[in-house]
Amino acid sequence: MRCAHCGRPDETRVLSTHHVSEGWVRYRRCACGRVSVELVTLDEGLTPHRETVRAAA
Ligand SMILES: [Zn+2]
Repeated sequence: MRCAHCGRPDETRVLSTHHVSEGWVRYRRCACGRVSVELVTLDEGLTPHRETVRAAA
């Protein structure tokens, strides 16, 4: 998951994780301070898929 702000590859730190009906929502903070929200879902083979659902300013 590359930071949309500074472009760093996956240097984000997980702030918190919440279980939701679709899977888990994770709040991440990059080294540059940008917070993003990602949704983690599992497919039928239990493979996790991550997508950024919202990026806070
Ligand atoms: Zn960043």
